[in-house]
Amino acid sequence: MNFPPILECKNLGKRYEAPVFDRFNLSLPCGKIIGLLGPNGSGKTTLIKLAAGLLTADSGEILIGGIRPCEKSKGIVSYLPERNSLPEWMNTEELIAFFCEFFSDFDASRAQEMIRDLQINPKARIKTLSKGTKEKVQLIMVMSRNARLYLLDEPIGGVDPATRDYILRTIIKNYQPTSTILLSTHLIADVEPVLDDFLFLKNGKIVRSGNVKEFCTVQECTLDEAFRREFRC
Ligand code: ADP
Repeated sequence: MNFPPILECKNLGKRYEAPVFDRFNLSLPCGKIIGLLGPNGSGKTTLIKLAAGLLTADSGEILIGGIRPCEKSKGIVSYLPERNSLPEWMNTEELIAFFCEFFSDFDASRAQEMIRDLQINPKARIKTLSKGTKEKVQLIMVMSRNARLYLLDEPIGGVDPATRDYILRTIIKNYQPTSTILLSTHLIADVEPVLDDFLFLKNGKIVRSGNVKEFCTVQECTLDEAFRREFRC
């Protein structure tokens, strides 16, 4: 069965002082884990925030499951911001209850299982947790929703390599085959094994994209090597 694209940009324009996107076009299919990869300032966070409905386009449009970002689209999008945004005064038990109330697609038992696996004290207030642990908790919350589109902005940047593996396995384990994950990261070698597709973004333009395995077979290199080659300073 063919599903319509989960995320589409049509002649999208967005600028701050200078343009970030100018007549940008993109179509992301359902059922893929897609790496959004590019150097600093290429527009990754801006694109993710536009899709999450936190920024509005200046021109053109961005569509989530065929509709413009709104309350309804936010109901099918699970967004992990680049910075921690958890309520610091809560503990993770309270956080899970809060998410249950807020998101009808939130799976509390999945969140509890991950909190247990990562040996996070459910009674400890968020503000007392280390930076890396806060990141883990935030990612657990985001991945415990049954969303259609997950937007993960640098999900593993602050966590140690061993936990990265757990988190990536967790992403795969909990991921529904009809959902799409758009994941931005600099840690390409770490995420490469879990990605289906990739997008190389440079100055607000897709300069290369495709299926990771096919691309790497043809190019006879890893995605990490291809990235370094593409964006060599
Ligand atoms: P990336 O996530 O790939 O590092 P960003 O989307 O954060 O890139 O930034 C893209 C461009 O937009 C950069 O040139 C950045 O300086 C600029 N930019 C991002 N946010 C703002 C802002 N709030 N005000 C002004 N310029 C911004």
